[in-house]
Parts: sequence; structure tokens; C-alpha cells
Amino acid sequence: MRKKIVAGNWKMNGSLELVNNLLPRLVEVSEETQAQILVCPPAPYLTQAQALAGDKVAVGAQNCSEQASGAFTGEVSVSMLTELGMSHVLIGHSERRAIYSETDALVVAKVKAAVEAGLVAVLCVGETLEQREAGHTLGVVLGQIKVVLDELTVEQWSQLVVAYEPVWAIGTGKTATSAQAQDVHQAIRQQLAGYDVQQAEAVSILYGGSVKASNAGELFAQPDIDGALVGGASLVAEEFISICRQAD
Ligand code: PEP
Repeated sequence: MRKKIVAGNWKMNGSLELVNNLLPRLVEVSEETQAQILVCPPAPYLTQAQALAGDKVAVGAQNCSEQASGAFTGEVSVSMLTELGMSHVLIGHSERRAIYSETDALVVAKVKAAVEAGLVAVLCVGETLEQREAGHTLGVVLGQIKVVLDELTVEQWSQLVVAYEPVWAIGTGKTATSAQAQDVHQAIRQQLAGYDVQQAEAVSILYGGSVKASNAGELFAQPDIDGALVGGASLVAEEFISICRQAD
């Protein structure tokens, strides 16, 4: 059966102090839950986070280059991440797509590079408010996923996690209702089943967008919601720990 995952995306927030305080607590929580806890701090903190996480808590990067090496100032390659012991990488976060103009083609190249290096790619997808209001939610979301699925083998899905994050719900305090989220997650599951019915059941699909301790339980109760990608609340120990506990 597919894994429940609670992932924290710190974005460009946090500090070494937060790494040192939070990681040991998450290691303790990981003993009490079947859910996989994943922490994605900014790149400079990855090594320290990994040292504290051991094999109990997964640590991932928030981005990677699609290039293997070379004159790409400011970029981090997938082999550097695996060398440091990272297991996951977020790809295609809406902030990367909107602020850094990442296209679907670039997202596909990054996912391929990550998967081929042995990382789990957490593919972030989601519609803007305008797109939702125009009735284009499924077209946008399934389109963002299709371009990736068309380039992976079904065997590589064991290294793929999908995170549905409606852009209008990220960092806004507005969460999709559990029914709105489930509708999209179910459509994603059906899309996967169009490629492979059996393996579609094994892919974890996370919800992201203002998830907090008070709304996580209802979201996690939905049949196709397999956990959460958490931004702001992942920086607050009690909030994030409560979300992790509710994922069981
Ligand atoms: C995110 O950054 O992926 C996210 C979902 O942020 P927040 O939980 O703050 O909305």
C-alpha cells in the first residue's frame, strides 16, 4: 500500500538553530508513526539536517538542477544531493514556476535527472485562482502531470510523489476544502490508472496549501490524500508534529 508522507517545505526560512531543535524531535515522532516524515530545509542546512535525521526522517532539497555539472553558477546537481545522503527533492513548486519562470519542460528535465540519480521527485502541481475560476483546474493539473508521466517508465513511479498544491491556497491561509482536494486527487489517481491501474494505487499524492494542525485530520481522511506538503506550519514544531501524528 502507498505511503503516508508529511513533508515540510521550509522555503527560504529557518536557521541552524531550528534544524538543531526540530530534527531530534521529529526523529522521536517518527518512532510513533507509520507515516514518512520528510524535511526540506534550505540547501545550506541539508548536511546538518541529514546528520540529525539519520535513517528515521527523510531529508530533501527544495530544488535541483537538470544539468549534471558545469558552469551553472548557483545551481545544485542531483549527484551532489545523493552524495550528501538526500533521498527526496521538490520539483516544480509553484514559487519556482511563478517567480523563477520554470516551465513544464524544465520540470520534466529536473524530474528525469532526479529519478535517474536515485532520488524521489516530489512533483508539485496546481492551478491558480484564475484558472480554477475559469473551470480549468483539472486541465492545468493533469497537464502538468502528463508531461512528466510521458517521460517516465511505470517502474520509475516508485520514485515519484505528486503534491497537489492549489496556488491560491499556498501561504494564503485559504485551504481547499477536503472535498475540493479529494476531487483533484481522485482525478490524478484516475490519470495514473490510465497508464497502469495497479501502480496508480502505489503513488502517494500529497495535498499542500495552508495545511495546519487544525485542518490536517479532515484532509487525511480523504481516500486519495496520502499526506501533506506543509509550508508555513512546518516551521512551528508543535504544528508540524501534530500534522505528522494525524497522518497515521
Ligand atoms: C508550500 O510551500 O508548499 C505550502 C504548501 O505552503 P503553505 O503550507 O504555507 O501554504
